[in-house]
Amino acid sequence: MPIDATLPYDDGNIFAKILRGEIPNKTVYEDEFALAFHDINPQAPVHILVIPKGRYVSWDDFSAHAPDAEIAGFVRAIGKVARDNDLVEPGYRLLANIGGHGHQEVPHLHVHLFGGRPLGPMLS
Ligand code: C5P
Repeated sequence: MPIDATLPYDDGNIFAKILRGEIPNKTVYEDEFALAFHDINPQAPVHILVIPKGRYVSWDDFSAHAPDAEIAGFVRAIGKVARDNDLVEPGYRLLANIGGHGHQEVPHLHVHLFGGRPLGPMLS
C-alpha cells in the first residue's frame, strides 16, 4: 500500500527497525551515512536498497531537510555500492519512489539500485 510521504517520520517503519538491528538484512555496505542491503524481493539479478541513516520519510523530505554532509555522504554511498558491485559498466538504474503516485511503500527514504541484466525502457 503506497504511503503519504507528507506524514511525519514513523520510527516503527521496517527500515527503521533494520537500522536498529531489530530485523535481519543482507548488508552489502555500511558507513556513517548509509546502509545498503539486498532487497528481500529482487526485481533484477542485482537489486540493492540504499537508505540514509537519518530519519527521512522520502527523497522530498531528505532533499529539503538533510544537512549537506548527510546528502553528500548518502549520494557518495550509492555510487560506491554501484562501483563495488561492478555495475558501472555495463550499467544500472537508480530509482526512488516517492509518495502515493510514486508507489512508495516504506516510509523511510530508499534508493533502489537495479542491475545485472539489460533493464529496457523506464518501468511502468
Ligand atoms: O519503493 P518501495 O517503497 O515501493 O519499495 C520498498 C522495497 O522494500 C520493496 O522492493 C521491498 O521488496 C523492499 N523490502 C525489503 N525488506 C523488507 C521490506 C521491504 O527489502 N523487510
